[in-house]
Amino acid sequence: MATISPPKYVRQVLVTLQGRGFPAFLVGGCVRDMLLGVRPNDWDITTAALPEQILELFPGAKVTGGQHGTVTVRIHSHTVEVTPFRVEGGYRDHRHPELVQFVADLAADLSRRDFTVNAMALSADGMLSDPFGGAADLKRGVIRCVGEPERRFEEDALRMLRALRFSAKLGFSIDLFTMEAIREKAPLCACLPPERVRVELEKMLLTPAPDTALEAISLGLLDSYLHRRLPEQIPERLSALPKRALERWIGFAWLLERYGCVASAGDFLQALRLDGRSVHLGTQAAALLNAPLPETEADWKRCLRRCGIEASICAARVAEAFGRGGDRGKTLRAVLKSGDCFSLRQLAVTGDDLMALGLRGRAVGEMLEFLLDYVIDYPENNRRELLLSLAAGSEE
Ligand code: ATP
Ligand code: MG
Repeated sequence: MATISPPKYVRQVLVTLQGRGFPAFLVGGCVRDMLLGVRPNDWDITTAALPEQILELFPGAKVTGGQHGTVTVRIHSHTVEVTPFRVEGGYRDHRHPELVQFVADLAADLSRRDFTVNAMALSADGMLSDPFGGAADLKRGVIRCVGEPERRFEEDALRMLRALRFSAKLGFSIDLFTMEAIREKAPLCACLPPERVRVELEKMLLTPAPDTALEAISLGLLDSYLHRRLPEQIPERLSALPKRALERWIGFAWLLERYGCVASAGDFLQALRLDGRSVHLGTQAAALLNAPLPETEADWKRCLRRCGIEASICAARVAEAFGRGGDRGKTLRAVLKSGDCFSLRQLAVTGDDLMALGLRGRAVGEMLEFLLDYVIDYPENNRRELLLSLAAGSEE
């Protein structure tokens, strides 16, 4: 049984609903995590109450789940999502249910959920509802669809990526029939909105088993984003990348570029609707990774000047993770630690100083660039008087 108990504010919501005669349960991920002895990220409640009845019971509560009827309840500084029991039907585009119906029955609500381990509910007094054998699957370490896998993936193709994501997160295997259905229904993932694919992939990349994203490729789940799949055996491991979304995305995207699966890492990130900054950094880091990384401190400084700190660090980290570039990352770290100048901002003179010397227009910018290039090679000479005399002397 669960070794983790819900916090007081969660019990308060459960008990308040029940006090009004509405059966209410913890459900989904939080029950799974409690049974595993892991503290849940968030606490979801399902109830027989309808949205307007939930709103009435909790002052300040707001409908946040649109047609799903989810109401976000605020208790002090905490929020809890409360959703009426519901069933779905008439799935359109292998993703969107055309019909959402509120029902009075917990079992019906649990049956619309994706995997047995996510289809359990727990009452405030500790009674577990587990109609599909989720607790046994948790013990065996298996991700298994609720109901017939082919049909569940036809209804919502995102569940195939979710199956891989949960297997990566929990270190579970995927049930044989569920896996067969993934192989068969993989092409349906082409119907999914890229934003949804991105969310699942990012969560997958941040689990202890990020290489599951490579498995998603082998299974054909990402075919609509690729010219071709990755070769079967590649030496690079995504698990060697630092556990940060940006590095994992860039490492992943660059591998796809390197093996000719996508036109460019930036295009892939863009196609998955990553934010503009990540696409930009991915494009720059990939360009750095496609050539030998800078070797000397001065080379790194010029690279930092050209591409910025973040793209340079990402490129170095990805190169290290994939066993490329020897200890060039060390040189970069030494540069950053030294505090040496590699940008105009750090230069000991400014444009105003040069104008005071009589320089005007383009000459100011050109002189600043010249001085920066100079101090990159002679970091100890980033001194105002010295640079001003250099600038004054080179004026003609
Ligand atoms: P995590 O801790 O990663 O958030 P979670 O189980 O809470 O895990 P969510 O994506 O937040 O995952 O979904 C909450 C619950 O809603 C799931 O546990 C599952 O019961 C149900 N669910 C979510 N997405 C689907 C889906 N596409 N099909 C069926 N059920 C789903
Ligand atoms: Mg969740």
